[in-house]
This record gives sequence, structure tokens and C-alpha cells, in this order.
Amino acid sequence: MRKKIVAGNWKMNTLPAEGVELAKQVAAGKHTVCDCVSFIVCPPFTHLSEVSKTLEGTGIAVGAQNCAAEAKGAYTGEVAASMIAALGCKYVILGHSERRQYYGETSGTLNRKMEQAYANNLVPIYCVGENLDEREAGKHFDVVKAQIEEVVYNLTPEQFGKLVIAYEPVWAIGTGKTATAEQAQEIHAYIRKVLAAKFGAAAEECPILYGGSCKPSNAAEIFAKEDVDGGLIGGAALKAEDFLAIGKGF
Ligand code: PGA
Repeated sequence: MRKKIVAGNWKMNTLPAEGVELAKQVAAGKHTVCDCVSFIVCPPFTHLSEVSKTLEGTGIAVGAQNCAAEAKGAYTGEVAASMIAALGCKYVILGHSERRQYYGETSGTLNRKMEQAYANNLVPIYCVGENLDEREAGKHFDVVKAQIEEVVYNLTPEQFGKLVIAYEPVWAIGTGKTATAEQAQEIHAYIRKVLAAKFGAAAEECPILYGGSCKPSNAAEIFAKEDVDGGLIGGAALKAEDFLAIGKGF
């Protein structure tokens, strides 16, 4: 049985006090959702520490939205994976399309970030996904295949055993347009096939999350698909009620 995961990507939203309040609300409502669902919240760096302390002992894990490609040193403005881990975080989102698009993250950079994450016992939530032009040109399979081959294929089997993948079609992120459950299943199954070509049966154990305008009204239909193991949630993760309701979609 694969893990069922609902992860909240808060992006550049909430001030520290608001983030702590949001985390408290999620923790307070967690008992209304099946224990079989693992919740993760990924606040901005500035409140990782406080949110992490707030959620101690609640069973809700904390992750960062990015980490540096280097271990430490003269890299002004960067945050090392070791620093994130020291705050009690267990996860780090890597390769989100906004990072690829606005900050020029390439597979080369992401390989180094993945190494840093694993060296510090953080589980990467590695994001893949095509943009609208690529989808319309029918290239979405090739795009996600390359994003996986260029980064995930470099992992050892042991590292692969601690990986979460998020499929996020860029055209569905923050746009209100969601992939249909069928579109999600089609590409999730394909991603699993690409993973199996390298890692064999272990691909069956890898959680693959869907992301892109996932909300309480569509989560259940998407999560019902065989190869969809949960969601990476942006906008709807900023309201505890919606985030929890998405967890009830399983
Ligand atoms: P969204 O974002 O749910 O607001 O579309 C998802 C994401 O970018 O992780």
C-alpha cells in the first residue's frame, strides 16, 4: 500500500504569526481525517522554525519549498538543506515549476539540490509537469520523462525509496483549471512506468501526487484514480478547512 499524502505548498504567503495560526488550525482538525493520510505543510523559510515547533507531536510533517544546491559557505541569500533539517523539517519541495520558470532551475541544479536533501535526511518532493504549449503539442509525456530521467534516474535505489513525486501541469497551477481525473491517471501511470524502467518493482511504492488547482470539490475524484496517491496543494492549503477537506477526499 502506497502512502496517501496531502502536502500544502504555501508559496510566498502568510506572515509568521498567520502561518502558526494556520498550522494550529490544521492540527486541530486533523482528527476529522482518516489516519491513513499523511499531512505535510511547507511554509516559507521565515516560519519553518515556529511552524515546526507548533506541529511537534501532531503527526503533521513540515517541509521547505526549496534548498540550496551547496552544503554551506559564501552563497548570500541561500538556505542549506542542513539548516532546514535542523529545524525539524522532514521534506523539501524541489523543482517546482515556479522555481524552474522564474529562477532558472535546471536538471543540473536540481541534481545538486537532491544530493543535498538526501545528505541531510530530507525527503524530496520532486515536481514535474508540462506547460500549456507542450500539452497542446502532445509533448507532455516526453517532457515529464526527461524531467525524471535527468534527475531521478541519478538516484541510488536507496534514495529512490525515499522520494515523493508531484505531477503538476503548469497550465493548471493557480489557474483554476484542473487536469481531469483521467488526464491525471494517464500521466501518473506513465510516470510510474518511466520509474519502473529504472527502479523496477520499487516504482510501485513511490507516492505520486497531483498538483494544480486541486480543491475540496475535485480532490475525491482525482484521488480515486489508481496511480494518484494524493496532492500537492497551493491556494487551497491556505485555508485549514479546505486543506483538511482535501484530505477527506481519500
Ligand atoms: P495551486 O498550486 O493548488 O494553487 O494550483 C499548486 C502548486 O503549485 O503546488
